[in-house]
Amino acid sequence: MKASRSNLLSGLDVECIPDAPIGPMTWYGIGGRADMLVSPRTMEAAAEVVRRCRQERMPVRILGGGANLLVDDEGVDGVVLRLDQACFRQEAFNRSGSVTAARIGGGVDLFSLVTALARRGLSGFEHMAGIPGTVGGAVNMNAGGTGGDMGQALESVDMVLLDGSTRTFGVDDFDYDYRSTSLPRGLVTSVVLSLEEDDPIEVRDRVKTFFAAKKAAQPMADHSAGCAFKNPLDPQTASRISAGKLIDEAGLKGLSVGGASISTRHANFIVVQPGASSRDVQSLMHSARERVADHCGVELQREVVVWSRRDKP
Ligand SMILES: Cc1cc2nc3c(=O)[nH]c(=O)nc-3n(C[C@H](O)[C@H](O)[C@H](O)COP(=O)(O)OP(=O)(O)OC[C@H]3O[C@@H](n4cnc5c(N)ncnc54)[C@H](O)[C@@H]3O)c2cc1C
Repeated sequence: MKASRSNLLSGLDVECIPDAPIGPMTWYGIGGRADMLVSPRTMEAAAEVVRRCRQERMPVRILGGGANLLVDDEGVDGVVLRLDQACFRQEAFNRSGSVTAARIGGGVDLFSLVTALARRGLSGFEHMAGIPGTVGGAVNMNAGGTGGDMGQALESVDMVLLDGSTRTFGVDDFDYDYRSTSLPRGLVTSVVLSLEEDDPIEVRDRVKTFFAAKKAAQPMADHSAGCAFKNPLDPQTASRISAGKLIDEAGLKGLSVGGASISTRHANFIVVQPGASSRDVQSLMHSARERVADHCGVELQREVVVWSRRDKP
């Protein structure tokens, strides 16, 4: 059943695109449509949309930069929320001695944030260089890399919970781990980052170093959603094993289904060619999981989030 826009959004300060092509808005650039793509213009409107969706039992999903997302070819039902309006893209800085608390909107783009902080000579976020997406998406995924993750830079997180209430979680109120947090489900509307004053040139040089290392190791220019699978935990050593190494050792580099293939540069990246379908990517993920399990007995878990009409968010 297609969601009806009439009552759900009445009186709310939102922009709404019915039957919106959200697949092309992701980094994969493939996949179908959403029944409704809703951009709230105020925090109150965002909270009220979430509350009404819960009341009407209508699915609500949150689209960040689409850098870790695969949308099914059939698209998704209900509401997809996007924080692309000005009130979710603000940046404010409060300096106290050598420490600056930066309040950053959940819809802010990570690339531009990393650059803006370097220009201001604020240190503590350089390790996020080269990771695409938004601040809200990075909190949700606890995105990161060899230099650290999103969680370590956070002082607090502001959220709209699924009942429409708003909450602020201080860094001591939640845990974060490899690509996960213990935060409740909901919409990350803004965060406060704790940053140190530093020489802008030194911050910029560290950003460049992180970015160069990423560019050397990953097929950044191809269409992908980054690492397809999480690095599994080795029960013997309690450390992470590279999923890319396991896929490579199973001989899967270059394996393709339709227009999707396992990158020859980094085996944990599934990249797509024009004309690829979401089904191609999902079939390839399935094959890779089966073949790695057959080869070494490890069950890979997906890192990429897949949206479809079949799931119940
Ligand atoms: C070329 C490339 C390289 C990458 N390299 C890395 C890397 O080095 N390290 C890494 O960790 N990741 C990497 N990724 C994956 C991706 O950049 C991160 O997962 C990023 O944090 C996704 O953010 P997003 O805003 O695009 O989220 P989306 O892809 O839009 O969404 C991902 C999930 O977060 C949720 N979400 C989005 N916004 C919000 C919000 N405001 N509030 C609550 N939930 C929200 C979505 O509902 C979804 O469940 C890479 C991706 C690409 C394409």
